Amino acid sequence: MTQLLSLVVPFYNEAAAIQSFADAILPALEAVPDARWEIVCVDDGSKDGTLLKLVALAQADSRFRVLEFSRNFGKEAALTAGIDAAKGEAVIPIDADLQDPPELIAEMVKAWREGAEVVLARRIDRSSDGVLKRKTAAWFYQLHNKLSKIKIPENVGDFRLMDRAVVDALKQLPERQRFMKGLFAWVGFRTVTLDYTRAPRAAGETKFSGLALWNFAMEGFTSFSTAPLKVWTYLGAASAMLTFIYALYIVIRTVVFGNAVPGYASLFVAITFFGSVQLISIGLLGEYIGRIYMETKQRPAYIVRKSYGGDGASG
Ligand code: UDP
Ligand code: MG
Repeated sequence: MTQLLSLVVPFYNEAAAIQSFADAILPALEAVPDARWEIVCVDDGSKDGTLLKLVALAQADSRFRVLEFSRNFGKEAALTAGIDAAKGEAVIPIDADLQDPPELIAEMVKAWREGAEVVLARRIDRSSDGVLKRKTAAWFYQLHNKLSKIKIPENVGDFRLMDRAVVDALKQLPERQRFMKGLFAWVGFRTVTLDYTRAPRAAGETKFSGLALWNFAMEGFTSFSTAPLKVWTYLGAASAMLTFIYALYIVIRTVVFGNAVPGYASLFVAITFFGSVQLISIGLLGEYIGRIYMETKQRPAYIVRKSYGGDGASG
C-alpha cells in the first residue's frame, strides 16, 4: 500500500537553485519506501525565470505541480497556498535553497509512520547563518515565548512533517496575515523532534533582509500575544506613582528649605521621557490596529494566476 505524500516548496527568484534542488530532492524522496510523492511548487511572483524552469520540471515529471502567484505575496502566503493545495496524507514544507536537508525526509516519514503527527526538524548548528541573524533569532524566540502562551520551539523553521489531521486544522485558521511558525505551534498535536545541521544556501541569496526579519518578528509578537498592549498600563501606573512621590518630595522640600532652584532640567527630562513613552505605546497600538484593519478587509492571503501539472489540470 503506497501513501501519497506532499512536499510544499516556495520559490521566489530561485532560478539558480531549481536544478540543484530537483537533483537533490528526487533521490531523497525515492529513498522513502511505500510512498508516492507530489511536489507542490509555489512560484511567489518571481521575476527571474523561476516559473519557466518550474513548468519545464512539471512537464517532464508528473510529480511536480506548480502554482503561479499573480505577484510576490511572501513566503508565508506561498506556504499557505502550497499547504492548501497539497493532497498528501502528510505534508512537508521545505525551502528551495537546500538549507533544509532532503536526507531528513526519510527519517521524518519514519517517525510519522511510528505515530507522530508533527515531526519537527531542529537546527542544532546554525553556523552557516551569520552571528547577527542567529543572535536576533535567539532573542526573538526568548521574548516571544515569555510574552505568549503559545511557545514556538527555538531553532525550528518551517521544515517539518505534518499529518493530514494537522493540515486540516491549519486550514481552518481563518487569519489572513499568516505567521506560520506561530500557527504551526498553535494547532498542537503529538510532536517529535529530529536534529540536523543547517547547510549554507545552495545558490542565490537570502530573500530576507534585516528590515524584513524585523517586520516578521513584529508579526510574530502581535499575532500571538497582546502583552505588548497590556504592559503600558503597568508602566504608566508605575511612572505615575513615581511622579507622585517626586511631587510630594518637592512640596516637602519647598516647605522646609524654601523655594528650591527652579528645576527646568528635571522638567525637560520628565516631558521628553513621558513623550517618548507615549509615542512607543501609540506605535504599539498602531501595530495591533493595523493588523485588525488588515484582517477586517478579508482579502485572501494569495492569488493564484495559474496552476500547472498534477491531474493534467491547468488554468
Ligand atoms: N521565499 C518566498 N517568497 C519570498 C521570500 C522567500 O517564497 O517573498 C522562499 C525562498 O524562495 C526560499 C524560502 O522562501 O525557498 C526561504 O527563503 P530564504 O532562503 O531567502 O530565507 P533564509 O533561509 O535566508 O531565512
Ligand atoms: Mg534559505
